[in-house]
Amino acid sequence: MIRCTVKNCKNNDKINHCMLSEVRIGEMSHDTKFKSDTKCDSFEPEF
Ligand code: SF4
Repeated sequence: MIRCTVKNCKNNDKINHCMLSEVRIGEMSHDTKFKSDTKCDSFEPEF
C-alpha cells in the first residue's frame, strides 16, 4: 500500500492512499539529501 496525502492527484483515493500499484519517484536536484528533494513523477493533477 502506498500512503500519500496529495489529494489533488487523480491517483489518490482522497483518504490518503495512492491507488496505483507502483509509483515512480524522482529527485529534484542531483544532490539529494532531504525528503523534500524528492518528488512523485506519477502525480497527475486533478482540475
Ligand atoms: S501518483 Fe504520486 S502524488 Fe499521486 S497519489 Fe500516487 S503517490 Fe500520491
